[in-house]
Amino acid sequence: MNTEISKAAVDALVKNKNLTDGEFKALLQTGEFDGYLFECADKVRREHYGDEVYIRGLIEISNYCKNNCYYCGIRAGNGNAERYRLTKDDILSCAKEGYRLGFRTFVLQGGEDMFFTDEVICDIVSGIKKEYPDCAVTLSLGEKSFDSYKKYYDAGADRYLLRHETANNEHYSKLHPESMSLENRKQCLYNLKKIGYQTGSGFMVGSPYQTYETLIEDLRFLQDLKPDMIGIGPYITHKDTPFKNFESGSLCLTLRLVAILRLMFPYVLLPSTTALGTIHPQGREMGLKAGANVVMPNLSPTSVRKLYTLYDNKICTGDEAAQCIECLKRRVESAGYRIVTDVGNVKK
Ligand code: SF4
Repeated sequence: MNTEISKAAVDALVKNKNLTDGEFKALLQTGEFDGYLFECADKVRREHYGDEVYIRGLIEISNYCKNNCYYCGIRAGNGNAERYRLTKDDILSCAKEGYRLGFRTFVLQGGEDMFFTDEVICDIVSGIKKEYPDCAVTLSLGEKSFDSYKKYYDAGADRYLLRHETANNEHYSKLHPESMSLENRKQCLYNLKKIGYQTGSGFMVGSPYQTYETLIEDLRFLQDLKPDMIGIGPYITHKDTPFKNFESGSLCLTLRLVAILRLMFPYVLLPSTTALGTIHPQGREMGLKAGANVVMPNLSPTSVRKLYTLYDNKICTGDEAAQCIECLKRRVESAGYRIVTDVGNVKK
C-alpha cells in the first residue's frame, strides 16, 4: 500500500503538486522507489542548474558559543572543547587563498560568540566586499536582532544561513535549553527574508526524538518560508554532549529528503553536506546525484579545523584548501557534475 502511494507521490511532486501528510509519510518510509525518486530529482536539478556545482568557501571564524544546544560539540557547557577565534586578518587571508582557488562565495560561520559584536562583524564583511566585490558573503552566526541583521546586510552581506532544526515546538524543546525558542528562531528567519537576504534554513535528519511527523512539519514550515537555500545533513553524535548515547541519523533517509526537497523547491540551493560525507565515504557524491547542487569545502586555517567539531569524526580537517578543492573536483566529476567558478546565486 505504502509502495503504491510513494510512487504516486513522487509523480505528484514532479508535477509540482502538494502532498498530504499521509503521502509524505509513505514517501519518507518507503525506500523501494529511491532510484526513481533520485532520477526525478536529478532531472529537475539539471533543468534549473545544468551540471553545475557551486562551491562555497567555509571559514569557521569562532568555536565559542553562548548557547547550549544539546546536540552540539561546541556548546558552551562542553569544557573539553579547545576554543579559538580568528582575527580579521586570518579571515581575509582565508578569503585571499579562496579567491585564488576560484571561490566566489565565502561563508563565515561560527557559534554565537559575544566577541563578534555588530561592529566587528560589519568591519569584516565590508573588508571582504571591498577586496572582492565580485564575491558573495554568507553569514551563519546564529540568532541576532532585526537591527543587527540589517547592519550586516548594509555592510554588504548577501546571504544568511540559520537552520530551524525542527519546526515542532515540543521537539525543539528536547533539543535546546529553555533559553532558546522555536518562535524566535522562526522570527529570525522571517526577519532575514524581510531585510532582503538570500535566506537558508534546514534541519538535521535523525536527530534525537525526531519522528516522521516532525519531519513533515519541517517540510510544511519550509513551504511557508520559501527559503533560497536548504541545508540538511544527518545528525551525527558528539561524544561530549548530553546526546552522546543516541545513534547518528541515516544516510538513506537524508538522501531521500534531499531528493524530496529538490522536487518541492526546484530552484533551491541545496548543499551536499560535509555531514553526508562523514557518515559515508561517497556521501557527498550520493547527495549530488539525489538533487544537491552546492558543496562547501573548508577554507579555515588547518590549525583550527579540528577544533570546530559540531559532531565526531568530521572529514577534511587535515588538508590544505588547495588539496581539498582538488579532491572535491574529482569527486564531483566522478558523480557526473562539474564545479564552476561562479557567485552561484539562486535561480528563481
Ligand atoms: S548549534 Fe550553534 S547555537 Fe547551538 S551550541 Fe552549537 S554553535 Fe552554539
